[in-house]
Amino acid sequence: MPHPAAARNLSRTLRDTASLSEAGLLPPSADLAGLEAVQARYAIAVTPAMAALIDPADPRDPIVAQYIPDPAELVTAPHEIEDPTADAPFTPVPGVVHRYPDRALLKPLLACPVYCRFCFRREVVGPDGGLLTTEQLETAIAWFERTPQVREVILTGGDPLMLSPRRLAWLLERLAAIPHIEILRIHSRVPVADPARVNAALAAALTVEKPLYLCVHANHAREFTAEAMAALRQLTGAGVVLLGQSVLLRGVNDKAEALEDLFRAMLRGRVKPYYLHQLDPAPGTARFEVPPEEGRALLAALRFRVTGLAWPTYVQERPNGGGKAVVGPVWRDS
Ligand SMILES: *Cc1c(COP(=O)(O)O)cnc(C)c1O
Ligand code: SF4
Repeated sequence: MPHPAAARNLSRTLRDTASLSEAGLLPPSADLAGLEAVQARYAIAVTPAMAALIDPADPRDPIVAQYIPDPAELVTAPHEIEDPTADAPFTPVPGVVHRYPDRALLKPLLACPVYCRFCFRREVVGPDGGLLTTEQLETAIAWFERTPQVREVILTGGDPLMLSPRRLAWLLERLAAIPHIEILRIHSRVPVADPARVNAALAAALTVEKPLYLCVHANHAREFTAEAMAALRQLTGAGVVLLGQSVLLRGVNDKAEALEDLFRAMLRGRVKPYYLHQLDPAPGTARFEVPPEEGRALLAALRFRVTGLAWPTYVQERPNGGGKAVVGPVWRDS
């Protein structure tokens, strides 16, 4: 069923409250002054693909919840912290995070196709944030070259697929050329949130000699549009292995049916659900919180109902950089 905004033929990413309002994506009751204050603090971006999915008449629209700002973001709950994953103490050179022995993150930029209202890196991501210079990238590559216990580079950010295909191809080739690097991995929201960016040039950039795993971030079945499915097909055609990661979010996927639909949509797109994340306590995100006990019960409700291929591991980031803890699924079998 087409949503009302689909007829609007939006052609550009909307980046402020005024454009969202003009496009009819805010409810009539919206607190415009509150939204302006949110905009002053956190980046906003809604791509044409995501705007087309929004039904402004639905107060519980799962796409609105993920991307449209809300004045509640200005309220920091007592347990919320600015750097919930505590990347800073694990950063040997700018852009690199090394917390686990055999793998490390490389964040080449902090821009994203959309800005998710629940983002755990919301204090640092944004359209002009964190683009590493060529010199800084060389320093990061040199760190990987002299750190032989690291076998896997995980490009994240921000969203690495926001780099130009040329720069991405250069970076992947340099990393793949390091003898002890066995695996390349990219975490990205682009294939679902901005499928128009997935074209022949990007697919060519991702065609590298070493295995490339692309972990696609998506939280609702509706995000798997025909365009997203075509983008995913193009990526598998380029030899990329697709994994899925989702965040458990109140008002988006906090029902067993919503999770089932999400995981089934992923599998239809050749995406193997990998991680379901417990929400990290970033400032102003309390409205999305689902307690872990509830998350475990939701996964348990899917047991036997869905193929085993659909199961992600349910993980939670420990406070103070303690790494990921597995919180589910938990079966009480004897
Ligand atoms: C999550 C994370 C990884 C990747 O962990 P996997 O369990 O291999 O997906 C690597 N480094 C850091 C710092 C992380 O937070
Ligand atoms: S795409 Fe990822 S990093 Fe970017 S705003 Fe969304 S959750 Fe944050």
